Amino acid sequence: MFRHIGRKVKGLAVFICTVGILGSIGAGVALYLTKVLQLIPCLAIGIGGAIVSWWCSWVLYCIGDTHVKIERLENKLIPKPAYAEYLSANTPVRGACEICGRTTDLINARIEDQLGTRYRKVCRECFAANNCSEAD
Ligand SMILES: [Zn+2]
Repeated sequence: MFRHIGRKVKGLAVFICTVGILGSIGAGVALYLTKVLQLIPCLAIGIGGAIVSWWCSWVLYCIGDTHVKIERLENKLIPKPAYAEYLSANTPVRGACEICGRTTDLINARIEDQLGTRYRKVCRECFAANNCSEAD
């Protein structure tokens, strides 16, 4: 329900922005056509409301986008709790690849790059694609 909440917050920001823009324009047009207000206040409601909705959605979108990026960094930088097990038993294990998520036979892999050394259980395709070596 709350997993990967950043993507949902970003989607909510887009939804609120769209509803706000359409609602402001609709309210401006409706108020003008029903002759409740003059043209200038109706234009201010329609255009101003749309711009304010757009600006306000930036804040919500920024929160969601920040969460997505932090989650991505967390996955790369923080070793998993079962880290020690990766080194002890290097027999093929069946499960979800920690890079692509596909369920298959896994390899205990050591990934060395500019971020440092990490240990992950990965599928054969991710093993080959990420320049891994077998952890021992
Ligand atoms: Zn994979």
